[in-house]
Amino acid sequence: MIEHIEIEKCTGCGVCDAVCPADVIHMEPASGPVPVAGLRLTNLLPVIKFREHCITCFSCEIFCPERIVDVHPSVKNRPRPW
Ligand code: SF4
Ligand code: SF4
Repeated sequence: MIEHIEIEKCTGCGVCDAVCPADVIHMEPASGPVPVAGLRLTNLLPVIKFREHCITCFSCEIFCPERIVDVHPSVKNRPRPW
């Protein structure tokens, strides 16, 4: 399951959002002054919107050009349906 994005190193490229097959990650406008030094293409930053939908496919971690997405192999955090 996706655990964390090191947002302070993110460039806002949107690749993690584009490759996620479960629509977990959404690009959203950065609030206030752009807080990320490396942000260069857009003022959108990834938000882990629906963590519980993550299928632990590792695509976001593999394709992030900055290597800042952390996906843990465990699915233990997934809420039980009961
Ligand atoms: S591991 Fe796969 S399903 Fe989970 S957030 Fe990343 S791309 Fe989406
Ligand atoms: S792929 Fe990496 S650098 Fe690009 S928006 Fe996602 S977390 Fe940021």
